[in-house]
Parts: sequence; structure tokens; C-alpha cells
Amino acid sequence: MTAPREEMACQICLSPLNTLGTPPTYVHPIQLTTDGHAPVPVPVSQLDTVQRTCDFCGDPYPTWTLVGGEVTALAIGAAAGLVQNFGQAWAACATCQTHIDDGRIYKVVDRAVQAFGLGDHSQARERIKQLHQAFLNARGPGRTLITTTAWPATAITARELPKIRDRLARFYRSEDGLPTALATAETRQDIAAGLDRAGLFWIDSDFTDLAEYAAEKLPDVTTSRDLMPSTDGLLVWPRPVTPRQITAASWTTTTEGWHLVSYRTIGGGLDGTPLQRLREQVGWLAPISTVQVHERHALPVDHPVAALTATWLLIAQQAAQVTTAEVDKVVRKTYARTNRPAPEVRVVRIGANGGGAPSSARSAPGDPAPSQTSRFWVSGHWRNQPYGPGRALRRPIYISPFLRGPDNAPIRLGTTVRILGSQKPKSENQN
Ligand SMILES: [Zn+2]
Ligand SMILES: [Zn+2]
Repeated sequence: MTAPREEMACQICLSPLNTLGTPPTYVHPIQLTTDGHAPVPVPVSQLDTVQRTCDFCGDPYPTWTLVGGEVTALAIGAAAGLVQNFGQAWAACATCQTHIDDGRIYKVVDRAVQAFGLGDHSQARERIKQLHQAFLNARGPGRTLITTTAWPATAITARELPKIRDRLARFYRSEDGLPTALATAETRQDIAAGLDRAGLFWIDSDFTDLAEYAAEKLPDVTTSRDLMPSTDGLLVWPRPVTPRQITAASWTTTTEGWHLVSYRTIGGGLDGTPLQRLREQVGWLAPISTVQVHERHALPVDHPVAALTATWLLIAQQAAQVTTAEVDKVVRKTYARTNRPAPEVRVVRIGANGGGAPSSARSAPGDPAPSQTSRFWVSGHWRNQPYGPGRALRRPIYISPFLRGPDNAPIRLGTTVRILGSQKPKSENQN
């Protein structure tokens, strides 16, 4: 086997795997505690999330990949039983990266000594120092953002959205690397320019519940310009959605179609200088996956941006009430100084008629009356509806997406209760 091997991770525990022997077999890292399952190797590029740790200190939220000297293995006496198999690419957490950038390697060594429980074991400390130095002395230029780290979620408010958009555009234009599909300079410039022009959409919590619920049942959708609420856009949900746990998505119009990118939030749980640097240099969002689609492209049911498509469709069928958010004063001033028009953030809520489904779709004689102590979605479904010139086109429309119950009551998800035919939608009988 002479061809370079792609890095593999275990599909069950999402941990990167080490190789052993020739031909190589894949093994869990020896310091990893598993439930005893055999490793199931899959290429890392096929996974949205990888349970990687910082190769310097073991921190569970690695942020950057650095390339340096080849260090194949290390064993530190009985104290830690640590054996690692690093290769040339190391993962660094935001804190180690800050110390490395500031030339404080001893701080990185301190973190490792502490994390590996080596205490005052000075020989072990010396070995770790040698290892870190061997790697860093041969370090190549640049670094690549790790986009597969499952950071704790960071909530983004509507007010912050222009600033978050600007930081993301700046990151696309920066020298820092991105993995695979977003790696080309041309794609990055296209997306950055698209973000500059983007319509900004902040989806409120109830609408997010609806979109996520509807996304689960979404049929295949054919892309077309009229699905989208703006030519280019950035759309943010207040919490991670769908099993892919995406928090934002962007769409960029190009001459060939669109770049659709999904994002996760990064930096949750960090503070101090490492957080400040991450916000300055990367921002709040890291791209998880990207696809290029063309007009009349079929997006399959399990598409990475199913939540985006469902949200678009619900906005397009007027299930939404769209208002404009108050934008941060500092941000407004910054825009004014650079002669940019004041940014506009559109806040998407559930409309008064919740989509205006025909009453026949929501009646079901004999069903139980709705509870008054909680609100719930009337069981909805998608139906393909003709539209466009000569009604020749089809697009899914969500039927019955409306909310029942007192305005301030908590919303129960996924209930299948239907409403009696004699009862009217919330907007008409809330008194
Ligand atoms: Zn595993
Ligand atoms: Zn670290």
C-alpha cells in the first residue's frame, strides 16, 4: 500500500482511528475508553462530526489542523500509558493555538501534563516538550479550520446577524484553510461576495419547530429561483436543527446555479483570549457541508440542507409573518462609515393564519378536542401543488401547519391530534 491513505474514523463512536501493522488494520486509540465495540472505519470526509481531541492537550474541541514534523508514536511510562499516532497533521484547540501563536510553548506543555494526569513527573514533562517541539520546529505555513468538531451550541440573535455575516465573509476571504469542497479560492470568493449581498433571515423558535417538523417529512424538492426568499441569503435558526445539527445555511447565486452551505456554531464554552481570537479570525459559524446545485436540480429527502428547503417552502407559501429586526447601533454606524446601506434582518415568525390551509384539510370528525394547557401542531403533510406558467411546475406545499392553544402555552411537538371541523384556527377564536 503506497497510495496515501485517507484518514478514517469509527462510524460508531466517531473517533479517529489509528493504524497498526502492514497491511494496516484500524484500531481505536489506546487511551480511548469504548464500550468494547469493534472499530467500523469510514473516511473522515464522509462524516459531519468527528470526535477528535486536541493532539497537544486532549481538549475535546479542536479548532485548527496544523502541519508539522512527522511524529509517529510516543509512549510515556506507566504514569499515563499514553500512546499516540499523530502523523504530520495535528489538531490544536483554540487555547493551544493561542499559546503557540504567542510563543508560549511551555503553556501548551502545562496543559498536556495536566490533562494526562502526569503531575510532577518531570521525565514525562520533558518527553512531551520534546514531542511538541519536534512537531512545531518543522511546522509548515498556514492552518486549516476543523469543521467536524461538535461544539456546544451558541445562540445567535437577530441583532447580531449582520456582524456574524460580515465575519463569515471575512473568513472566506482569509488565508486560513478550509477542508475539501470549500478549499478553492474561487468558491470562497464567490460565497464571500454572495454573503455581502445576502438577505439576512432569522427564524424564530416556533417557526423553527415547524420547519424542523416539516423537514422530516419533506419530499424531494426541485430547486428553482422562486423557492428562495432572496437571490443570495444567510438564514439562521436559534438552535441546531435536524439530526445534522445545523444552525445556519447560506445560498449563493452563481452563473451555474447555487452554492448551498450548511453551518454549525463554533466557540461555545470558550472564554478569554482564545474566544476573542476565534471570533476575530473565524467568527461564529463554521461550514459543515457544501453542495453546488443547478436550476431544476432534485434535492433528495435526506439532503444536508433539507431544513433550509423546508424553511424556504414555508416562507414561500406564506406560512410566515416577516418583520424587520432592530439592528445593533454599533453595526449600523460601522455600515454608515463604510458607505454600505444599513443592514436589514428579516425575522420569520408563524403567520396569523399559519399557512392558511383549507379547512377540509384540518377537519376530522370524532377526534378529541384540543387541550387548552399546551399548544400543538396540527398534524401536517406536504402535497405537490402545481404553480408557475401554465401551472406546469410542481412544488410541495405544507398542509395544516397551524398552531392550536393559548398563545403563551408551551408547544408540544409531533402530536398527531387533529381539530374538529367546527373549530376555527387560532387567529379567529383566540378571544
Ligand atoms: Zn468506535
Ligand atoms: Zn489543546
